[in-house]
Amino acid sequence: MARSHPSLTCGFYAYWSGVPVDGVEFFLREGRDILGFPTHDGLTCLWVGRSNSDRSTYRADIEASYLAALDPVLLERVKRGRRETPFKGTHRLPNFYRDCAGPGWALVGDAAYHRDPLTGMGIVDAFLGAELLAHAIHEGLLGDLDSALAGYREALRDKTGAVFEYTLMSPR
Ligand SMILES: Cc1cc2nc3c(=O)[nH]c(=O)nc-3n(C[C@H](O)[C@H](O)[C@H](O)COP(=O)(O)OP(=O)(O)OC[C@H]3O[C@@H](n4cnc5c(N)ncnc54)[C@H](O)[C@@H]3O)c2cc1C
Repeated sequence: MARSHPSLTCGFYAYWSGVPVDGVEFFLREGRDILGFPTHDGLTCLWVGRSNSDRSTYRADIEASYLAALDPVLLERVKRGRRETPFKGTHRLPNFYRDCAGPGWALVGDAAYHRDPLTGMGIVDAFLGAELLAHAIHEGLLGDLDSALAGYREALRDKTGAVFEYTLMSPR
């Protein structure tokens, strides 16, 4: 059965040069989450998420809101670096389960099940779903494919339900 909740957060990211990070750095603060990680060409990607209720303030002056939300230790580094890209962002981060399988078809990854990126579980769950579906197809091709796909739908709910509920409860 499908289920959905609106976006909890919104946010913008940009790529920076001259902003070193120690692997992945994650700061979770009341009303904001900040994620920094190294990416291509020696750049650092910095994401600043805010509660979705702050969306209009954030969008009114993206750069000022983004910088104001940074943790002081990170802000110091950002001031010494340079922003290499425009800000990109979204407020469309819904939380939903779709009906993800039927006779002869199935959905995986974000298409099947999406939750706010705040809990950082999307890639893990996408791999989990792919693995569950691969097992279901293997079983189904040996017997009843439709019921194996229905089993996949149940298994995905079962194994991701806790993360979905946890995401909905996350501070924001
Ligand atoms: C801001 C943000 C931060 C995140 N942080 C994390 C994190 O820290 N950890 C984590 O685990 N997850 C994180 N996620 C979630 C994660 O990125 C997704 O859950 C994951 O990428 C889903 O994988 P997917 O294969 O289902 O979809 P995608 O990775 O979106 O892949 C779908 C692909 O299909 C392509 N496509 C779309 N339509 C068509 C078409 N018609 N024809 C052909 N190709 C098409 C798209 O271009 C895309 O390449 C984050 C997401 C966001 C938005």
